[in-house]
Amino acid sequence: MISFEGVTKRYDDGRAAVDELSFEVNKGEFFVLIGPSGCGKTTVLKMINRLIEASGGRILIEGRPIGDYKLNELRWNIGYVLQQIALFPHMNIAENVAVVPELMQRPREETAKTVDRLLHQVGLDPKVYRGKRPSELSGGQQQRVGVVRALAADPDILLMDEPFSALDPVTREKLQNDLLELQRSIRKTIVFVTHDMREALKLGDRICVMNGGRIVQIGTPDDILHRPATHFVREFLGDAAESGRAREGLPPLTAEDLADPLEPDGRLTAEGAVSIGADTEIGELLWHLAAEERLLVRRGDDVVGLLERERTLKRIAREFEEGGRG
Ligand code: ADP
Ligand code: MG
Repeated sequence: MISFEGVTKRYDDGRAAVDELSFEVNKGEFFVLIGPSGCGKTTVLKMINRLIEASGGRILIEGRPIGDYKLNELRWNIGYVLQQIALFPHMNIAENVAVVPELMQRPREETAKTVDRLLHQVGLDPKVYRGKRPSELSGGQQQRVGVVRALAADPDILLMDEPFSALDPVTREKLQNDLLELQRSIRKTIVFVTHDMREALKLGDRICVMNGGRIVQIGTPDDILHRPATHFVREFLGDAAESGRAREGLPPLTAEDLADPLEPDGRLTAEGAVSIGADTEIGELLWHLAAEERLLVRRGDDVVGLLERERTLKRIAREFEEGGRG
């Protein structure tokens, strides 16, 4: 559906903000671009709708280079949602949403029906909200209108640039859920930019991790979570990995996960240490570590490792910060 073939973007300073990027977004796919601030995510999005021209390489939509489309034709087929959506303050919600269909000279009645259906689908009762002004809506409701506006002309592609990142966590979570629900029925090709790994893992069919204008890894949430390709991805997973474990019902960390192997001369350091079962879970483990400097980890009669208080606490902290099982 959308293909990047060795796409590079140099701004005026000559540095490559996006460097030889190649990837493909499939039809109907929810594709998430994630990476730290400045890694080139917005540049990628804006090259798709030609708000920015690539300096090298090719971008194709449905097999045709984007330069072959008339600019209007291209833009009308691509909805665009930004972090701060700019609704026209003097127009009501229905008018705001209908701007593009109006430009396209779509029949008004048809547009009105579409607008009502979409408002309803994002949880805004059209009877209540159609006639309201943007200023009467909360931030979360305005973002919902932003999504409706991007979809009003029924584009094939939806580009979303950190659309929920300015919202409070509770509102953000609601909008994420509603977007997933909406996508189940509309099945658009979505390219969604975020720097929040939890959001990426939750929403994406596939996730593309970027750093410094390059792709570090492309994979399903499962790939990213359990098979991070590089240290960078692992770091970027952060505590999303922990919440990912919880969500997937993965067992919590155990004494065995956290233990250091006994060194050859470990008998000395381990002497007199209290024993603890290998399957002891982290919560229980913390109680033991509060009381004991060292714990021997046993499975049956075998000693499988040693936990030292300070080292173990550091390791737990790191697990929660960086994610992964080490
Ligand atoms: P992200 O969306 O991931 O934060 P951007 O695509 O906005 O990243 O920016 C990527 C890099 O390109 C950054 O180093 C940024 O400073 C630079 N950049 C972005 N826009 C411009 C511009 N108009 N002129 C020069 N440099 C830019
Ligand atoms: Mg950006």
